Formats: sequence, C-alpha cells, structure tokens
Amino acid sequence: MVRRRSLLVLLLIFGGATAFPQQAPAPVAYRVSFPEPEHRWMQVDITFPNLPPEPLQLRMSRSSPGRYALHEFAKNVFDVRATDAGGRPLAVTRPNPHQWDVTGHGGTARVAYRIFGDRVDGTYLGIDSTHAHINMPAAVMWARGLDDRPVTIRFQAPTGTAWRAATQLLPGADAMTFTAPNLQYLMDSPTELSDFSVRTFSAADVPNPPTFRLAVHHTGTDAELDAFAADVERVVREARLVFGEYPAFEGNAYTFIADYLLWASGDAMEHRNSTILTSASSIRANRLGLLGSVSHEFFHAWNAERIRPRSLEPFNFEEANMSGELWFAEGFTNYYEPLVLVRAGVTGVGDFAQGMAATINTVVLGPGRGLRSAEEMSQLAPFVDAATSIDRTSFDNTFISYYTFGEAIALGLDLTLRDRTDSRVTLDDYMRALWQTHGRPGGRRPGYVDNAYTMADLRSALAAVSGDAAFAADFFSRYIQGREAVDYRRLLGLAGLVLRPQAPGQAFAGELRLQDAQGRTRVAGAVPFGSPAYQAGLERDDIIISIGGTPVGSAGDVDRSIRQRRPGDTLPIVFERRGQRVDGTLRLVEDPRMALVPVEEAGQALTAAQRRFRDSWLRSSGSSP
Ligand SMILES: [Zn+2]
Repeated sequence: MVRRRSLLVLLLIFGGATAFPQQAPAPVAYRVSFPEPEHRWMQVDITFPNLPPEPLQLRMSRSSPGRYALHEFAKNVFDVRATDAGGRPLAVTRPNPHQWDVTGHGGTARVAYRIFGDRVDGTYLGIDSTHAHINMPAAVMWARGLDDRPVTIRFQAPTGTAWRAATQLLPGADAMTFTAPNLQYLMDSPTELSDFSVRTFSAADVPNPPTFRLAVHHTGTDAELDAFAADVERVVREARLVFGEYPAFEGNAYTFIADYLLWASGDAMEHRNSTILTSASSIRANRLGLLGSVSHEFFHAWNAERIRPRSLEPFNFEEANMSGELWFAEGFTNYYEPLVLVRAGVTGVGDFAQGMAATINTVVLGPGRGLRSAEEMSQLAPFVDAATSIDRTSFDNTFISYYTFGEAIALGLDLTLRDRTDSRVTLDDYMRALWQTHGRPGGRRPGYVDNAYTMADLRSALAAVSGDAAFAADFFSRYIQGREAVDYRRLLGLAGLVLRPQAPGQAFAGELRLQDAQGRTRVAGAVPFGSPAYQAGLERDDIIISIGGTPVGSAGDVDRSIRQRRPGDTLPIVFERRGQRVDGTLRLVEDPRMALVPVEEAGQALTAAQRRFRDSWLRSSGSSP
C-alpha cells in the first residue's frame, strides 16, 4: 500500500491539482452483516478510498426514488464510528441531522454503524429472522461528491441461514457480492435477502431476450407461485405490446422482488430493472390485487424510469422531490395497469369498467378539481405521498390523487384520440412516441436519463402524434393545466359502455364518514365541500342528534333517514358542536355517483361499430414483431 501511495504522489506532481478526478476511481466498498437479525438491526461497514483531503461529508438520504415526501432515514442510525486506513479513530461531527463529517482521514475512511429497520415495504428497511428487506436510501450512508464512484456491496448472511440475494445490482465476485456503477444506481437497487422462491422466464419472442426473475418471499405453495408466475409472464408480454419493445435493462434482466407476508405493509415501488412488491395478503387470497401491482410497476420500467420527468432527474436524496408531471408518470401508469390486465385476459371488460367508474366519480365529482389542476395536484406529492402530518389537513376536500386524476386524463385522451381517428391513433401511439424520443435513447451514465421530458415536451409530442397542435394545446390547457373534465359519457358510449347513475332517484346528503361511539354518532371525516351536509353546516367532529325529527343513535339511523326521502326534500338536522346545539336544514339531492356498465348488461345490443371500437381498445393486439 505504501508503494501505491508514493506512485500517487508522483502522479500528483506531474498531473497537477486535477490528478485525483482523473484516476480510475476506486470503488466505495460496503459490507452489510446481520449479527442479531431477530433484533431488527444490521451492521454496515464502508470503506471510502482515495479521498480528497477535505472532510468526508457522510449523508443519510431524506428521500427515496419514487417517493416524494421526506422520510428522515437518519433517525434509525446508531453507533457510528470512523477510523483511518490504519484503524485510528477519526473525529466525527454532526453539522445537521442527516450528516456526519469525518476529518483527518488521510485519504481513506472506514465508517461503521448500526441501523434499525422494522418495516417491510418499498421505502424502508425491514430486518427479522426470516429476511433483510433493504431499500438502499433507508439503509446506507453515502458521501457527497462521490456520486460517480463505482460501488461494491457484499452481504453476509447470518450464520445458519440459507439467505440469498434478489436485486438489480450487478453480479460481483461471488453470489453475495454485487456492484453498482455509481451512487444513483446503488440507491435505485432494493435488495431482498432471504430463502425466497424463484421463477424465471425469458421473453423469447424478441431478439436478445431479457431474463425475468420473480423472487417471492411468502408462505404460499409452489403450485400457487407457478400459476402466479404464468400470470406475471402474460402481463409482461402484454405491456411490451404498448411500446413495441422492452427497455434495454442493465444486465439484460428484470427482477420482481415480492414479499407477501402477514407482517409486510402493502406497497409497490418501481426501479429501473426491478420492483419491490409487498403485501400482507397472499397469492391465494389476492391474486388480482397483486397482479395489479405487477402490471403497474412493470409499466414504470418505461414510464417514469426511462420516460422520465426532468423535474425528477437526477433524483435528489437530500430534499423532497417535486414534479408537476406525476399525473403522467403515475396517472398514465395507473390507467395502463388495468388496461394491460384486461388486454392480457387476466380480467374482464366488466372489471375494467368498474375501476374506470370509480376513477370518473372521484375526478368529476371531487371538489378538489375546482381548486387545483392535475399539474398542481402533482406538485402536492411531497405532502401526500406517504407523508405524515400531525395537524389535520384539508386534503379530503382540496386534493385529488394525481394517480386517479392522471388515470382519468389518460382515459379521456385515449378515447378522444380514438374518436378523432376511427381508432387509427391511440394513446399507445402517444406512449410509443415518447418512448422513442425520451426513453429509448437512455443516458451516457448507467442509471441516468439524458433526455428527460418537460410539460412542453408532452404537449408537443401530443401535437405530433395527433397531427394537430391546436388540439394538443387545447387538451393540455383545459384538462391538465386547467380544471375541466372530459365528456366521459359520450366517449365511453362509443365503446358500448354506459355511464349512468349508480342509484337513480336515490336521495343523497354527501359522502359522510360517520363513527359510532357510546351511543352517539360522530362525523369522523371532512364533509365534502358543496354537499347537502356541508350546506347544512355540518362539519367534522359534530355529533348528529336527529334528522327529520327522528333521533339518531347510529350511522345506520342517518343512512335510513336519508334513504327514505326523495331528492329535493328538505329536512331539519340537529347536531352538537363543541358542546352546543346547532340546527340546520338538509336539502337532499339525487345521488350523483355514476356506474359504468357494458351495454349488453344494460339490456341493449352492442352495435358493430361499438364492438370494433371496444375490441381495438381492450383486446390484445397480440401480434409479435
Ligand atoms: Zn406508480
């Protein structure tokens, strides 16, 4: 080692002050071990070699790719130590809650710490005697300024376990050692260590077929997993038909990492060459729900991971990440989630229509649309995406999820394009155009996207695909940056789907969340803006005493007193607020919520034109290039 150092000195002399960055950078080396996994912590040892003389600024991330709120992962770190190459302790200071500064390292710093983690999902760290479920930003420290350093990471399974690794990290010196080309790729590479079950398949219908791995940590049977793997393969093949090709996965492999365990929290998170899928339910109990997550996250391999908003590229691990384009990155993905399932034959037209009805109801009827556009809803993600808030928020009334909002926009745009062109131009063409321009070209550095898109790019791509710039400008200004909703009833009618009242003639006071306790009925959630209950003055925490003169003793009483009236009826409502009696008047309306049903189920005949429209939209195009 001494010899090597003197060589470096020579290089410094001849190479001048810029010699360090021009060295082939030595990798940052991580070792992760589990002395007591049953106690839910792990040991991390990191060697940072070839450091410039400045203090080493070690960070724990505050955010995680695909998550937009702050998570403060530093809170779980303890027992931090740093030494130099000779094992001498180094001074560590804390300039802020997320950072450890190490001074006097002499070019190499070895850092060791322990970290606690007890949540199995797509964001956090979960360690127990059955596995280590590692989301990298929640688990590993990194150093500022070393983003382009390659990384090696070696996992040491607890003695006596059969733990292996499922990860998109690239293979290293042995089965438990992996590499990443840079920090962004490392942080994007969640890793499951356990005695999981594996199924693999390859998409042999394309040149240079990628390998798909399905690693499942669960308590179900092999037969259940075999059937599930066959379903996953159908979803994977169908998703490719939207874009015409698979992405060029790093390592030519894509890994589904699933933890279907009673002690997991339901979640799913996209990454470039893998996804984390977690659920407390099982394959047997929740096949369609789990396949929905598979469909959604795999679609993200194109849309979000490679067709990527410039606002999220590269991902900032030190701050909340805000994007006005999540209605597209998440919402359009949310639309293709059930669309790919119905095209793959996993679900039926009725299932698809039911999901779209829920989406239309939320977006068309939700009071939030009058207050914020889909772009503005997207920008709220740092406050709503797995965010915590001690004080109550107005979001029940002022927010509509960009997943749902964007899904409704995608539905409206797909149907509008099909209507304009007799189904010759569709949303698939739009997605493919964006793929060709923004996704397919990739990045010069692995894990990065060079031609990330902006809102203007999305608009001009729609102008190009539709051949009508005025149409694209109008659609964006009304439905995406404005607050209008598409005419779903007419457009869905083209496919022989009838959008009609869910409960015709039914009296309605607003969707109220009520809670019964000690013989009293309390309003337990926000009262929807503009609803009859809102106009009667009712608010959260009020106790309902009587409606129409009839005493209320339960939520069922409230429901009954409204259901036996007619839309247009007015009736007195008495409630208690902050210890005082309040009298109001309910003016009931007709239940505005819609159902979406195939015309065949509505007692009408599907016309030939409707069948053609519907088949072009909801059936697999099936042909492989
Ligand atoms: Zn998503």
